[in-house]
Amino acid sequence: MNILIFGPNGSGKGTQGAIVQKKYGVPHIETGVIFRENISKGTDLGKKAKGFIDRGELVPDDITIPMILNRLKEADCKEGWLLDGFPRNLAQAEALWEALTKEKMKLDYVIEIVLDRDISKKRIMGRRLCATDNNHPNNIFIDAIKPAEKDGKMVCRVCGNDKLTTRADDQDEAAIDKRHNIYYDTKTGTLAGVNYFKSRVKVIEIDGRPGVPEVSAELMKKLS
Ligand code: AMP
Repeated sequence: MNILIFGPNGSGKGTQGAIVQKKYGVPHIETGVIFRENISKGTDLGKKAKGFIDRGELVPDDITIPMILNRLKEADCKEGWLLDGFPRNLAQAEALWEALTKEKMKLDYVIEIVLDRDISKKRIMGRRLCATDNNHPNNIFIDAIKPAEKDGKMVCRVCGNDKLTTRADDQDEAAIDKRHNIYYDTKTGTLAGVNYFKSRVKVIEIDGRPGVPEVSAELMKKLS
């Protein structure tokens, strides 16, 4: 089972990707994770990639494309893979399609979690972390999971803890915009890559607006 998953930062792609990975038991290959591992191990690849990642830019295609195409040839990918974070632009989409065609490999599913830019940004910036458990969902911009109020203070909607914090990178609006500029670019960016696949295979579009359980139920329905 060979699967691609697309979705902007803030769409819940990571969470849904993990659920899909569990369903099919194929390796979850995340470009960003591979880069971060290489950076922490101090490999040549990590050294080359670090500056681009720190600036919020894409690592150049001549580094990223061979890295992923080689990864797909490893033994654990024999029964398939779930690719997440690649392709991230049109050139990567073309290179992947070309490599798959050459190897006579099929793309079984291409998933796109659809969420507009404004909502994606609010999802990220509105996220609040509960000191009791980071998995308690709280978001000041999403009605369904708005924190509760107690004595005029904002508290966790699950456990009532009044220590709700933000993640620093969630509040960096410029960095969020930079990543979204790449994702929503339909000329050469990630959405250009998604459209490239739409003209070749059936892309499963999932509305990313509802909560995690609803989105994953919809996804499972369309995958089976
Ligand atoms: P992520 O964890 O997916 O947000 O990726 C973190 C960073 O890794 C990105 O901001 C890029 O700098 C780099 N990166 C991840 N995937 C790719 C890709 N397909 N092409 C180029 N750079 C990438």
